Amino acid sequence: MQQGQRLKEATEGQIVQAGNKIGGPFKIGKPVYQEKRLKLFNEIYQRQKAELEAKEKTPITITLKDGKKIEGKKWVTTPLMIALGISKKLAENMVAAKVVYDNIFEKNFVDVDHEDQQQQASTLNLKPDYLIWDLTRPLEGDCQLELLSFDDNNGKEVFWHSSSHILGSALEEVYGCHLCIGPAIDGGFFYDCYIGDYKVTQNDYVKIEKAASDLAASKQEFQRAVLTKDECLELFGTNPFKRQLITNKIPEGAMTTAYKCGNLIDLCTGPHLPNTSYVKAFQVTKNSAAYWLGKNTNDDLQRVYGVSFPSKKLLDEYVKIQKELALRDHRNVGKKQNLYLFHQLSPGSAFFYPSGAHIYNTLMNFLRRQYYIRGYQEVISPNIFNAQLWKISGHYDKYKENLFFINMGEEGRIWIKTHELSRTLSYV
Ligand SMILES: [Zn+2]
Repeated sequence: MQQGQRLKEATEGQIVQAGNKIGGPFKIGKPVYQEKRLKLFNEIYQRQKAELEAKEKTPITITLKDGKKIEGKKWVTTPLMIALGISKKLAENMVAAKVVYDNIFEKNFVDVDHEDQQQQASTLNLKPDYLIWDLTRPLEGDCQLELLSFDDNNGKEVFWHSSSHILGSALEEVYGCHLCIGPAIDGGFFYDCYIGDYKVTQNDYVKIEKAASDLAASKQEFQRAVLTKDECLELFGTNPFKRQLITNKIPEGAMTTAYKCGNLIDLCTGPHLPNTSYVKAFQVTKNSAAYWLGKNTNDDLQRVYGVSFPSKKLLDEYVKIQKELALRDHRNVGKKQNLYLFHQLSPGSAFFYPSGAHIYNTLMNFLRRQYYIRGYQEVISPNIFNAQLWKISGHYDKYKENLFFINMGEEGRIWIKTHELSRTLSYV
């Protein structure tokens, strides 16, 4: 899954800011904005539910992965109903569905919940021909359908994405904060929030986890509603960050969607788990500081990371693996064995002590010898290149987030190779 990539649907508009700081004065307290927000959402949700029920429910054919065809009804039949028709046990293990409609599904909703316009554009180009669909959302035409469990990468993303809403809700409950952006990422999810000058510490984890676990256990449905720009502004008007996203990214006349779970309503195009009780184990893993939209002149935010699983056993296994990984972390091993150090003056690059330099040179000598034995000749290439090279190679689009950039103006963006070894190992 792509890091920081919460949603996959269409988007428009750039973020334009009049000033850098928009958060304003803030005091930790009860999320007083929730009551009005819930009332308004509920009105819209009930109205749309009635509209859905009034739609003509024509027959549709759903083709499963094994070729089996199932008759259903448009606007009624859901992937969960189909799963339950196969077996209860199977249905319990599913978290989402992959759907390919026979006729192109053209209803795109504006995705406002994303911080990086460039990244979105590149994702649009790679847009797959399938849709990941809520298990409980009625199907809208003849389609092929595949049910997804937590073991499937798309299923895992839906699970962790849904968990980011649970985390967001917990952060609102604990701090009364303004939520910003909360994506699923590789290995879990995070949520950025504005809590004024307050800094989250490890001492806060227990209360965040408690609020999240309480919400998960209360089996709150994820409810979906389609919203106009005005409705969005009314729902999220008290949150300056969401307000900025809505104002800048939703063109007049366009629609977007929001989901409710518990007391939280969040801008999002989904999909999600049917309800919060699918999350049986939830853990806050770390926290850090962040900036609104990633710009260091903007408001300071608090980022809280988490991970969640459909069983306690899977969380226990995760915790065990994390401990093993920490034991083998090269940064700790290097420190203990006096091999190298890292310093903030050159983040990500090691300063080798004599023992470390000895190992480094021994490895280099071994590699040089092997290349010589195998008939290669050594060349030395530059350490930095104009970004144009990586656009041609495809690295720029696929791995941009993990590359180092020096911004030399729009045309002069250059990338530094991530590892010194790569320079010496450029053989022909
Ligand atoms: Zn969502």
